[in-house]
Amino acid sequence: MIDQKSSINNFLNEVNMKVRLSDFIGQYVDLVEKGNSFVGRCPFHNEKTPSFNVNNEKSLFYCFGCKAGGNILNFTTKYKNFTFLEAVDYVSKYAGISFIVDKKTRKVTTHEKIILEILKKANNFFQSNLQDSSEALNYLRSRGLKNDEIKTFNIGFCPEERLLINYLKEKGFEPEDIKKTDLLIKNKNNEFFGRFRKRITFPIFDFSNNLVGFGGRSLIESKIKYINSQESLVFKKSQILFGLQQNLEFIRKEKQLFLVEGYMDVIKLYSYGIKNAVSPLGTTLSEIQLRKMWNYSEVPFICFDGDDAGISASKKIAVKILKFLKPGKSIKFITIPENADPDLFLENKTKIDFLNLRNQSIDLSNLIWEIVKESIKTDTPEFLAIIDEKIKNIIDKIEDRNVSSEYFKFLKAKKDSYIWNINKIQSGNYKLKKVVNVIENTNEKLFISMILLDKNYLTEFHEEIFDIRLVEVNLREELQKILKTFNENPNSTLLNIEKFKETNFKFYQEILDLKRTHLDSLVGDEKKIFFKQILNNLRLPVLINERELIQKEIVEEKNSLISENLLKKYTRISEEIRVIQNKDIE
Ligand SMILES: [Zn+2]
Repeated sequence: MIDQKSSINNFLNEVNMKVRLSDFIGQYVDLVEKGNSFVGRCPFHNEKTPSFNVNNEKSLFYCFGCKAGGNILNFTTKYKNFTFLEAVDYVSKYAGISFIVDKKTRKVTTHEKIILEILKKANNFFQSNLQDSSEALNYLRSRGLKNDEIKTFNIGFCPEERLLINYLKEKGFEPEDIKKTDLLIKNKNNEFFGRFRKRITFPIFDFSNNLVGFGGRSLIESKIKYINSQESLVFKKSQILFGLQQNLEFIRKEKQLFLVEGYMDVIKLYSYGIKNAVSPLGTTLSEIQLRKMWNYSEVPFICFDGDDAGISASKKIAVKILKFLKPGKSIKFITIPENADPDLFLENKTKIDFLNLRNQSIDLSNLIWEIVKESIKTDTPEFLAIIDEKIKNIIDKIEDRNVSSEYFKFLKAKKDSYIWNINKIQSGNYKLKKVVNVIENTNEKLFISMILLDKNYLTEFHEEIFDIRLVEVNLREELQKILKTFNENPNSTLLNIEKFKETNFKFYQEILDLKRTHLDSLVGDEKKIFFKQILNNLRLPVLINERELIQKEIVEEKNSLISENLLKKYTRISEEIRVIQNKDIE
């Protein structure tokens, strides 16, 4: 469809006459007039001195730094993450010039059109055949599919190729044209046979809603269970998201997307009321597919199979998409427990179970840190030095300068805390041998000690501290006293460890010990980070407990309409738990 060169050129000429490119780009980039052109800081790479040029006479932009350049359409596809046709549409609206396909280009696509027409008719044939095949229907029922799914996804059944060929001939298609589709393929003896024969058929649509190919699930014992159409003039796997066509309305409404591996996953999720899954027909993701997903959701979920292959495919995608990251766009990763795929997972679970997986999803940034960390074989300086190299590799991949600088800060902080933790464990082990009395409830005591030693924590983390319920009764009471005193008079001398000297000398000693073993060696922000870790550790049981109660309430809810508030609360708490479990530092 993008072969419409001459009409695109006409369109561009018209746009260029009407639109000053610097006005258009000036909406997104600060430009300053300089000689014959406008200059600014390039939006496509990280730079301090402007090397991004816009020339109105030529209607072109060019960056001397990263060599990005082109016309208004090139700028729009790149800047907005649009496909080419989406950019045409966007620019056409901006300029108020409609894009007209001329006669010449129609001719170019005739051949393509015939193929599309044959596929469409074949699909009708497959669909009506499904109703006559009890074997195929039984299979679909056994997979839990109902009429709704069969109809929505136009599922069909392909019988012997003879019947298909006869049907298509009857519809007026030439045998030569039928052979050009991949409904028939040649075997070793140069004989044509039906590619999808004896298979359940799943029509596949492109982004323009053309039926461009099929997926086929074998009904008979076959070495290959699933097959897809082959790459062709019309079937371009990198430009397809199975399920997008059928689920579009829901996806638009939800602004949320799950990317799953196969079409059965998409259909199974649909049958459970999760009507926002799409599949790239495998585990690779192209730039076009990614941008398409971002058009509908700022942070889609990648939800590949929970086996090793699925996990390693997710990691590959994580690294691949770094290049295309933009502020406000990312992806998250869901791991399906017990090596299952979404289809299998749902066999004995509910919709809520699946949606809950989102709460355990991992951010792209955290997955990237995991990938960086994998290269560290031992915690020796030589290996720790590799981290910097890995971080640099990651940063270099990200073209957007803002995102890349944030990633640098994030990974650097992860590295620092990682190394700091190693040191803490090592020195901690060493010191533990020297401390004669092992202090019980260390976390809780450290927590109180730190509050008393630095009252700023009480102000800064007041709310979080207030929620905490310590396990040890004496400490719990102590904390309540502290909070009460602090509220009444933040400068009270009762908020001082010295007071324990007389009331509880053992505790006083413990505080001093803890200070020496855990706190004195911390410098700069380390102490505050350490405090937050302890705080989070203490909050975790409270949150988990609360979540369990809500979960119980949801399960026991007789009314089929579960309170929205309850679900919201559940999600919020789960999110908090996830943040605590995933992140040491914010
Ligand atoms: Zn540049």
